[in-house]
Amino acid sequence: MKNDPKHSGKVLTLYRWIWESYRKAVILPMILIVFGFSMFYFFTLQWNRSETIDYLFEEANRELKLMSEDKASMIKNQLDGVAYEADLFRYMTAEALLEEVNDLSVLERLQYSTEGAYYTTEDTQTGGAAVFYSGYFPIREEEQLKVAKILRLEKNMELMSETNPLITSLYFNTFDSLNVIYPYFDVLEQYPAKMNIPEYNFYYEADETNNPERNVVWTDAYLDPAGHGWMASVIAPVYREDFLEGVIGIDVTIRTITQDLLNLPIPWEGYAMLIGKDGTILALTEEGEKDWQLDELKEVNYSEAVYEDTYKPEEFNLFSKETMSGLATSIKQEDQGSRSIDLYGESRVVAWSSLGEIGWKLLMVVPEDNIYANVKEMNNRILYVGILVGILFVALFAGFIVFIARRASTMSRKIALPLEEMDKIAKRIGEGEYLQKVPDIQVYELKETATNLVDMGETLGRTNQELLELEKTALLAKDEAEKANEAKSEFLSSMSHELRTPLNAVLGYAQVLLMEEDKLDESQRNCITEIYQAGKHLLALINQVLDLSRIEAGYMNVNMEIFDIREAVHEVLSLMEPLSKQNDVRIETVNAQDDLTPSLVFADRMRTKQVLINLVSNGIKYNRSNGRVKIACREIEERLIIEVEDNGVGITKEDQKVVFKPFHRLDHGKQTIEGTGIGLAVTKQLVELMGGTIRLESEFGVGSRFIVEFMAYKEGADSLKLHVLSKNHDFELLKNQPYRILYIEDNPTNMNMIENALMLLGIGLIKAASAESAFEILEDQEVDLILLDINLSGMNGYEFYQKLIQDPVRSRIPVIAISAGAMENDIHRGLEVGFHRYLTKPIDLEELFSAMYELLKQKNV
Ligand code: ADP
Repeated sequence: MKNDPKHSGKVLTLYRWIWESYRKAVILPMILIVFGFSMFYFFTLQWNRSETIDYLFEEANRELKLMSEDKASMIKNQLDGVAYEADLFRYMTAEALLEEVNDLSVLERLQYSTEGAYYTTEDTQTGGAAVFYSGYFPIREEEQLKVAKILRLEKNMELMSETNPLITSLYFNTFDSLNVIYPYFDVLEQYPAKMNIPEYNFYYEADETNNPERNVVWTDAYLDPAGHGWMASVIAPVYREDFLEGVIGIDVTIRTITQDLLNLPIPWEGYAMLIGKDGTILALTEEGEKDWQLDELKEVNYSEAVYEDTYKPEEFNLFSKETMSGLATSIKQEDQGSRSIDLYGESRVVAWSSLGEIGWKLLMVVPEDNIYANVKEMNNRILYVGILVGILFVALFAGFIVFIARRASTMSRKIALPLEEMDKIAKRIGEGEYLQKVPDIQVYELKETATNLVDMGETLGRTNQELLELEKTALLAKDEAEKANEAKSEFLSSMSHELRTPLNAVLGYAQVLLMEEDKLDESQRNCITEIYQAGKHLLALINQVLDLSRIEAGYMNVNMEIFDIREAVHEVLSLMEPLSKQNDVRIETVNAQDDLTPSLVFADRMRTKQVLINLVSNGIKYNRSNGRVKIACREIEERLIIEVEDNGVGITKEDQKVVFKPFHRLDHGKQTIEGTGIGLAVTKQLVELMGGTIRLESEFGVGSRFIVEFMAYKEGADSLKLHVLSKNHDFELLKNQPYRILYIEDNPTNMNMIENALMLLGIGLIKAASAESAFEILEDQEVDLILLDINLSGMNGYEFYQKLIQDPVRSRIPVIAISAGAMENDIHRGLEVGFHRYLTKPIDLEELFSAMYELLKQKNV
């Protein structure tokens, strides 16, 4: 799952990729365009709506205003007519008061009440006026004459009343509380006896104080006590010169006016209403009543009306409603106008016009919604169409997306299937089925690729076949070479062995003969000495050949022990003395003889001496007369270094590369020096077998220095470990086996520690300070086990291992990783990579040996 490319962040399936491309290139831009168009459509719709609404609103306002103005002027005319009649009546009354009266018969239907009021007891036969002279002032003959004068107007009053339907009654009130009123009614019953008329509003509103201009004036509206609904009175003062005789009045019922008004058809289902000077609602339709949540006032208690000047229930007053204060101000300030109001949560448009003198206002009220109903309807339709188009778009879009998705799927299948097919072909080729058929593919480029793949498979098959054959040949050749090598070693071994027996006899008898020296003459002695010398040389040659073949065949055993190197050097020096004298070469020692502290080394004593003899004898042989060979021993950081240096002929750079190879002898001019050409080869092998190293520094014509390094033996913790380890059976089995173990480590201390430890088991170590140098070593020699440090400078342990397992032969070498990374995941990773063991530092030797034993044991089986 972790490595599944379908699930990793950046990798897309083909379908997904095509789909993404469509989405970015087609679907998104389309969505944006459609969205843009929709926005434009709805924006235009909104704009159009607000423009139309403004226009309609203005139109409606204007129309309403015109209508109210028109109707108001009609009512005004009617009211003006009444006012004109009042003016006429006033002049007639003033005239009547001035003229003499002779006929007093009109007074016959009058008499005094018990309280002193003078009043009409009955109506005339044709219907006349009623008279009530309150007993406020005494009524004498003069007053009776005044009654008779006024009653002369009875006919005129009747005429005026009958010709104008608005007029309900006409009357004249005097300063001394006379009331003459048409038509007749029972005044005694109705009026209080001592009524002081100037105290009433229909009198004082026209007096000198309130009406100094002596105009005809209208009183406020009031409810008719006789049940005629709202009434108003138009009153006018009657002066005799500057004396106010009284006030005439005409009562007008507004029922007739309102009847028309209320039946008035008003557009947009609106209605009309009439309000008085102070805001009292005088007329209102039924819808209006509902709208204002009122029931119209029609009846009122009669006595209430007479005793109170005016009757104004608060809820019927438009101006006293708090919510209408704005409207009230506008109406009071302007004779004409219109504005929107909020009436119990509903929007209304109100247009008003003044009725002139009377101070009343005609209002037309229309629900605002009705004005816009059409616009709203139209808008809703457009919106509806818009939504329908939107739905259609969405549906089309959905269809389009489904189509695109299908298209993407078909396209991806068309490409993915051939690709999968090719993948399968590639896999089959990988598995060794090199001959494949080109599948049926419709896409040209893919078909080309598939054809190339199939061709490649064929070529690969052929090449592989050739390679296999080559490998077979190579393996055969290698086998043969190995066999030949083995035969050579065996031959050398048996030959040497066979040669030793006769040589034994030759040398033995030569020595016996030489022991009886005195029996021989000079020439015989020389001959036998020659035979002895030649025999010894031959023996040395045979021994060296034998050693070399043993080493090469892996039969050479070393017996590791701890000994003082100085003793070995000392023995070699005494052995070499004759040769040095013979060659006139001096041997010097540094720290090798006189130093009191022993230089302990862990190696094979015999073989170490053999190594030293080879080096020293070469130093002497390849020297010049009066030359010198220097042997120096020193310890550096747990290493014991032995240097054999001469100032002889030296070795060229070129030759330095081959001196350690067997049977390579260098050309030292005409001088012939005895030698076999195996000495250095054996020396190198022996040193390495003992866990040491050997290298050469030389300058042609100046001299050579061979440097041998062994592990110095230090008494301490390790010796204890040795004791413990030696008890373990497993390690006993490891001991002194000719295993070739390669340790790759760049830290010399670690390297030395392991080397030291392995020495205790008698196992030498092949050392590499880097992974790169390890490969060089692996080129030259075979290795049974690799100990691998992970944190190497340069190529690290993991990289080394990856490279190692590329090689089919070397990948079989078991590898023990030795690393400082001791975390759980380090170990896990180490084992996952394929290391046979993963050990952590500090190294537990027991664990290491146990692992080594396990892996080496398998190898042996
Ligand atoms: P040999 O038996 O010939 O000495 P070795 O293997 O010991 O064989 O040496 C190989 C060759 O290396 C020698 O033949 C010699 O030419 C050269 N050689 C070895 N040691 C020295 C040295 N100290 N100085 C110069 N040349 C040397």
